[in-house]
Amino acid sequence: MKIQFFGAARMVTGSCTLLESGSVSMLIDCGMIQGDEKEEIRNALPFPFDVKAISAVMLTHAHLDHVGLVPKLYKEGYRNPVHATRLTRELCEILLEDSAAIAERETAIENRHRLDAGLEPVSPIYTMEEAKACLSLFQDHSLLKPWFLSEDVRVQWFDAGHILGSAMVEVVLREAGEEHTVVFSGDIGHRGKPFLPDPSKLAKADVLVMESTYGDRLHPGYEEAREQLAKIVCEAYERGGPLMIPCFAIQRTQEMLYYLHCLEEEGRIPSMDIFLDSPMAHRVTQIFNDNIQFIDQKTKEMESGNAWVAIGKNHRIHSLFTKKESQALNQKGHHAIIISSGGMAQGGRILHHLKHHLWQKESTVLFVGYQAEGTLGRELLSGQKQVEILGKRIHVEAAIEQIEGFSAHADQPELLDWLGAFEQRPAVVFLQHGEMQSILALQARIQEKYGIKTWIPHVGQTYFWPETK
Ligand SMILES: [Zn+2]
Ligand SMILES: [Zn+2]
Repeated sequence: MKIQFFGAARMVTGSCTLLESGSVSMLIDCGMIQGDEKEEIRNALPFPFDVKAISAVMLTHAHLDHVGLVPKLYKEGYRNPVHATRLTRELCEILLEDSAAIAERETAIENRHRLDAGLEPVSPIYTMEEAKACLSLFQDHSLLKPWFLSEDVRVQWFDAGHILGSAMVEVVLREAGEEHTVVFSGDIGHRGKPFLPDPSKLAKADVLVMESTYGDRLHPGYEEAREQLAKIVCEAYERGGPLMIPCFAIQRTQEMLYYLHCLEEEGRIPSMDIFLDSPMAHRVTQIFNDNIQFIDQKTKEMESGNAWVAIGKNHRIHSLFTKKESQALNQKGHHAIIISSGGMAQGGRILHHLKHHLWQKESTVLFVGYQAEGTLGRELLSGQKQVEILGKRIHVEAAIEQIEGFSAHADQPELLDWLGAFEQRPAVVFLQHGEMQSILALQARIQEKYGIKTWIPHVGQTYFWPETK
């Protein structure tokens, strides 16, 4: 068996790993590189492998850094199945169409500039048509139900507890009469998350490909995060301007709606209008509504047990759809909460709100998710006083806040516990999906605690298993 890393190698985004055994070759995730402009250029390059030779694509979950280049696979001629859970497929429909719309829009703008400069037009990384077409390749799978990709390849999905529909992938390969188990962790959820069960514990792995986003971090507990949120909302209210929350449309937006609703019910924050300025987040919220039966027991048993059901009836939550509705917020943002995407303030409608309100000392920005290197979110968090937004230099006067406890990723102790829970621990662990300092910190702890051999692959690097000398 051969394993090759094409993305999320020594960085967080762009997950893309190729596993080959006999005549079968599987691509696990096909994600976009996000955040770093220099690295993002690679998204547009042809894949560094033969797309048509791949027998199957398996997706861990519907985040762009894991699925964002699936339409490009289609564009380059891939026509075999794309395997995912039903919820991942449903979320991918929204995510990939949105991604194509952004690509088409950005290319149209670029081409206007190119035309002025007498240059040839360029085409988008993929079109809406290609995004829609690749969705026809998707095949749904249930968690915990093993299925055969070929006579010698058995696959099983486990709940990753990261976002709705997220899965870990276990692949059992038979080679020369011997079985080898390879596990791809995907993104591992943070314990105690609302709506989701905790990440599954697996029995066995020979080879493990594991994420390490927060391999050097300890998250504060949920109660602490809720306290922080209540305090920040109250302070933002006092300041008088809008509280802007850049938010990923999938999962984090729904969690924030849920927490804000609960805090208001508990009388811990003032009543404020919440503007959900993201048509995509609205569609995703519909999927949450339609799958209420999947919301895990602990959320149902929480103090505000039926909060999610009540959110549908909360008249303070306003979904905005048109550009006009979004722009109208510039005038009436006082004492309001604006939840809008993108989550790292790299694109999307949040940019317009930031452009209008960052220079005002009455405004507040709250980051509740991971901010990759090179993003506007990271610049603001590092205290930069001048930033560039949509071609304009903006002076930052707003209060910039961050809460880490809502993370969708396990922290260092959780990652170590998850690894330690294997009944038969892996012989080798490949650490990916992390910035170098996180990976190195996790590597050191794995070595110290479990003595397992770990590798930190480079992009394009190939490994063989069982190892030959
Ligand atoms: Zn993810
Ligand atoms: Zn990820």
